Amino acid sequence: MGCDGGTIPKRHELVKGPKKVEKVDKNAELVAKWKYCALSQEKLKRPIVACELGRLFNKDAIIEYLLDKTAERPNTEVVSHIRSLKDVKELNLTDNPAWEGERRNIKGDCYEDMHLAMFICPVVGLEMNGKHKFFYLQTCGCVFSERALREVKTVICHKCGDPFQEEDLVVLNGTKEEVDALQKSMEDRRSKAKTAKKSKKSKDAKVCQTQDSTADSSRSSSVNGASSRGISSDSAPGPSSSGEYLKSLKAPPAALAGSKRSIQDMRDKSETFKSLFTSHSSAKRSKEQTSNWVTHTPYHF
Ligand SMILES: [Zn+2]
Repeated sequence: MGCDGGTIPKRHELVKGPKKVEKVDKNAELVAKWKYCALSQEKLKRPIVACELGRLFNKDAIIEYLLDKTAERPNTEVVSHIRSLKDVKELNLTDNPAWEGERRNIKGDCYEDMHLAMFICPVVGLEMNGKHKFFYLQTCGCVFSERALREVKTVICHKCGDPFQEEDLVVLNGTKEEVDALQKSMEDRRSKAKTAKKSKKSKDAKVCQTQDSTADSSRSSSVNGASSRGISSDSAPGPSSSGEYLKSLKAPPAALAGSKRSIQDMRDKSETFKSLFTSHSSAKRSKEQTSNWVTHTPYHF
């Protein structure tokens, strides 16, 4: 058991201790959030969208998820609050001029700087690499560093000039507390939108009802007109009471209703007219007159 050279191994050299818990490099995890889609875990590439909780996604991944929500895929818990593309905002990011993309490290012979970011703040030039706090505007999707927003107080977007309010700012990849706050405001917003929708719906229904009632009243007024006409034509022969007049108006003419009544039964039609139809007695054949069957073959014509 002794090692060459006569040394005696100590206990800690022979007995393995409890496994060390592998620490996740906090820094690497943070950097990954800014470089990879939170859903597909692929590298972020335009078009990039952010959700109401400030997570970054590739738009393709979100579309794919929305098209088939039932498909089994990892990380779906990060997008469970996204119901449609309306719940994400396409970001208006500013390219980092120092970023050379993937071709820089194509040979793999140079050190990839973890902190070199693809995007920067358009105002103060800070890199979007997880070291600094960044916000996006829900109104226009432009992205700024916190420093820019703090140093240049403004109510219009630095980049596109759209007006915005404090509540339109969403922190990107925020801390747990920040995400919790965003979640709460998102829920508030959604419940508010729901009640607004409901009240609008009931208002619509009311409008429908009033329209119906106006239609009803117009109909009844026309009936009234008819009855008044009936009353005014009292001197003319025919039903004198307006009620009977209405009945006669409603009842279709006898000739039109004759689909069920046989023409042969009509008293006002002449015998000649009746004989035109197969239901006339002259059209009926006796048993001898009717052949057993008639075969029409094309050869006989
Ligand atoms: Zn903007």
